[in-house]
Amino acid sequence: MTVQELNTRQAAGPLQDLSERSELQSHIRAGADLPTLLVTTAHTTGDLSVLRDEWRPVDVLGVAECNLSDEEKAVIREECYRRLADHTRRGGGPPVRPTYDLLRRIGEWFLGSSIEPLIPLLAEELIFDGHDLRQPQWNKQTIAPDVAFSVAIVGAGESGIIAAVRLKQAGIPFTIYEKNDDVGGTWLENQYPGCRVDINSFVYSYASSPRVWSDYFGLRNETLSYLQQVAKDNGLYEHIKFGSEVAGAVWSDEEKVWKLTVKCAGATETVSPNMIVFAVGQLNRPKMPEIAGINSFKGEAFHSARWNHGVKFEGKRVGVIGTGASACQFIPQIANIAAKVTVFARTATWLLPTPSLHERVEGSERWLLENLPGYAQWYRGSLLMLQIPGILEHVVVDPNYAASEQAVSESNNFVRQQLLQWLEAQVADRPDLRSVVIPNSPVGSKRIVRDNGAWVKTLKRDNVVVVKEKISEITPGGIGCADGTNHSFDVIVYGTGFHASKFLFPIKVRGANGHSLQDAWKDGARAYLGMTIPHFPNMVCMYGPNTNLVVHGASIVMFSELTAKYIVDAIRVMLEKGARTMDVREEVFADYDKRVDEANKVRAWGYSKVNSWYKDANGRVGQNYPFTAAEFYQRTSAIVAADFHFGLGR
Ligand code: NAP
Repeated sequence: MTVQELNTRQAAGPLQDLSERSELQSHIRAGADLPTLLVTTAHTTGDLSVLRDEWRPVDVLGVAECNLSDEEKAVIREECYRRLADHTRRGGGPPVRPTYDLLRRIGEWFLGSSIEPLIPLLAEELIFDGHDLRQPQWNKQTIAPDVAFSVAIVGAGESGIIAAVRLKQAGIPFTIYEKNDDVGGTWLENQYPGCRVDINSFVYSYASSPRVWSDYFGLRNETLSYLQQVAKDNGLYEHIKFGSEVAGAVWSDEEKVWKLTVKCAGATETVSPNMIVFAVGQLNRPKMPEIAGINSFKGEAFHSARWNHGVKFEGKRVGVIGTGASACQFIPQIANIAAKVTVFARTATWLLPTPSLHERVEGSERWLLENLPGYAQWYRGSLLMLQIPGILEHVVVDPNYAASEQAVSESNNFVRQQLLQWLEAQVADRPDLRSVVIPNSPVGSKRIVRDNGAWVKTLKRDNVVVVKEKISEITPGGIGCADGTNHSFDVIVYGTGFHASKFLFPIKVRGANGHSLQDAWKDGARAYLGMTIPHFPNMVCMYGPNTNLVVHGASIVMFSELTAKYIVDAIRVMLEKGARTMDVREEVFADYDKRVDEANKVRAWGYSKVNSWYKDANGRVGQNYPFTAAEFYQRTSAIVAADFHFGLGR
């Protein structure tokens, strides 16, 4: 079901008489997700007595489940159906926008603890009756109709799209410059087989553009077409200049505008927006390894983010370098068709058991998501309530614990033991794979990869060989290792990641008084709330330095939504003040930066010596956000004007 269809259905009006819909009863009996059904029933009927303590869900690997007998589960289904049917028989309608009090009470039942800081966030995330609380409640036309103010967004990926949606709603003129030929960013570029999201799609999507997904973890094609649909639905295409790469940005102190150098079809033009929003992502410049002879290989070779669809794997000998999130998704796919796959594995990554990773959303669950009012919102809500608190606390280094590359705290060790059990069981019959799948670094130090058992099964295949030996060179015929062995290949695939710490690379940026961003960031990229940098007025990054989420429970889509809201709020403040510029105060930036660095040092990813893309060449963590998602929400929910210098007039 598409975004539009779902919106239409949800806005369709009064709840039909459920008492007459035996279909509803049979679908509730056959496949309702019980925590979602319970909260939907409580919300719809306004009677919270159905939220009984003994029916409270528990967290099973990040999914809320009612851990009850089949008989008890059947009682819940009948009770919820009976209440919903009674409600409609008495003329009750679909659930309306919940009050904070209702969210509080539902949340407290759900988690068994206070959800106080998350209530406003939840209210924004769960959209009922089309009440999108993140939509700007103002319009440029009403507050500054005569002021010329335009924005250039660089990049039409998931962050650029939501920034554009909000600017359009506020009536701010904008243009998106996109180097590719369509929207989608990383989801356009990454086309490797098996590519899919690893945050549940019902959360990895904009609150204001719901979709009933085909898979719980949407495949790349559906994720891409979703982003394209959102761009279409919001009339963004007419604002996008495709095939246009921003090569440089220079602030004009005289004119108080940015001068952007845009390259398009061999020509170069300069445009002069008042503000730039860099929405270029962290993982968009593929990184080829520095290995001797890399250009000498005579067969086919390509990076996972530049998949060569012309290469047929049938009957081929394939070498793959890398075992990160990308490789874990595409190796199982090519192992199904290639004659032999040799995996060059350097550092093991923790795998998170996710049974639903490849499951389709179908049958009764799908029917309920599409037809029972409120159910889709509460499915998202259940995931958020459970996940937003995150497991950040489990990756914080405990000063009273003998931290090591095994674990950084008692609770970090507890998580380790849980994951270890699952992994040990899978390699019990293959001790040679232990070092390939069992990490020597604390949980959270590298990107955790979701898996449903497919990874180890793939490594155990007869046509898959794992090589742990260090690669010494690429040869015309294949890959040579430090122990003198040579491996011959027809194809080499580089699953070697991205230039994650080269923020905004290769765009050259000069701010006020000629300040160079490359100089400002010579010791690592830094930005206040991941967004703004002193001396770079009217410039904002989305998914900027230290905004990467790993164990925070939220999704980057949510952070993009919060950032977009903050940007539009900043423009409102400028326009209301009659200001032409805003520039974050140095002391605000410095305090925040210090806090970020200090916190990151005592997170598993900062403590551990393991190599990961979370750190730059100097070992500084420039990618990860070290605080809770709730804190980011609080800090970005409204602009603090005192954090900025505002410049008036020209
Ligand atoms: P990555 O996590 O950086 O993994 C790169 C792999 O290449 C690592 O195994 C690395 O080994 C190996 N490698 C690099 N240079 C090497 C060399 N010279 N010799 C041997 N091995 C070498 O890259 P990725 O897998 O593309 O993932 C990057 C990020 O993109 C992920 O962490 C995730 O955030 C995102 N992503 C998300 C999804 C999703 O949501 N579904 C899917 C894919 C990617 P070492 O570990 O030893 O350095």
